[in-house]
Amino acid sequence: MKLAFAKILVGISFFLCLGTQLLAQEASQLDKAFPVRGLFVDAPNRARVDAFCKFIDEELGPNHINTLILAVNYNYRFTSRPEMASPNAIGKEEVAKIVEVCKKHGINVFPLINLLGHQSWSDSTGKLLSVYPDFTETPNIKAQKFDWPNPDGYYCLSYCPLHPDVHGVVFPLVDEVLRDFGAKDFHAGMDEVFYIGHESCPQCAGKDRAKLFADELTKIRDHLAGSNARLWIWGDRLIDGTKTGVGEWEGATNGTAPALDMIPRDVVICDWHYNRAETTAPMFAAQELDVVSCFWNRPQVAADTLDAVKLFRNVSNPKMAGHYHGVLQTVWSGNDSLLRDYYNSEPDENGGTAAASFKRMLKMLNAMAGEK
Ligand SMILES: [Zn+2]
Repeated sequence: MKLAFAKILVGISFFLCLGTQLLAQEASQLDKAFPVRGLFVDAPNRARVDAFCKFIDEELGPNHINTLILAVNYNYRFTSRPEMASPNAIGKEEVAKIVEVCKKHGINVFPLINLLGHQSWSDSTGKLLSVYPDFTETPNIKAQKFDWPNPDGYYCLSYCPLHPDVHGVVFPLVDEVLRDFGAKDFHAGMDEVFYIGHESCPQCAGKDRAKLFADELTKIRDHLAGSNARLWIWGDRLIDGTKTGVGEWEGATNGTAPALDMIPRDVVICDWHYNRAETTAPMFAAQELDVVSCFWNRPQVAADTLDAVKLFRNVSNPKMAGHYHGVLQTVWSGNDSLLRDYYNSEPDENGGTAAASFKRMLKMLNAMAGEK
């Protein structure tokens, strides 16, 4: 009896070891293909924090997501600058819940606050320029409903990077969310900055736009370095939209693209393309920049992006390969809509939702994790 029992124990141990080894193999297979397997979405509102934690616990963790970027922006119960606090928004306590469940699954969760651009949407001015209207880059242009193109060239307002007081307001906010998240990464947005070096700005008129962009990025990067944190940004302002053919949204046609040569090499570039899997990632890798390839609401683009990044890492020399950091699902319809679409049966593959694209990504990750 004792011998039989011992044999069973040995057998169980063997299978446990085998199981652990297989899990490790699966993890390494995925890590090899995509060191970053990420999701970007707005932070949930206060009432939905528990539902979002459940989503992290039951869906993100088990489906191999290891990076979660939450857009906090200026919707936060800031304590460092009380005038910037949104009383009904999430704060330290809600973030602690999210961080705890992420930790359980080994997910690197960190915040995003839009710096420089995206300080308004349509005719709604964001919190920063509402509280500090003098920080605007365009004193004579207000937030407005718009068609594109329009005479003001209005898409979103920007803050003036050379305003002497702007960093004294935004950096304490950055420090606060970094501390509350316990994060070593921070995403500063910096996408679609159409107003930069504007003729109506007393500080910036006539200045080189690429240098203005690079100097602002470097200032943010250097500030984060003081907390040992790394800067992530969206990459569109560093791509020449004309030469590459990606146009004035996914790339820049307003003079910022030469900043690519001027910025520190330790910034992580989130290279986003939503209509097709444009191959601009090698441009960043060849410039010694780490790049994460991003998609949105087209499942085929998600699939193509995963295939492309996997190929780049497989066929490149080790130096180049090391710069392809992985893939990121972006969500631009809010946290609630992601969860609603995700849980609502199988999203239509052609339905144009972020959830449909995300499910395609998860399917591919799970298939890859199962490869022996
Ligand atoms: Zn300015």
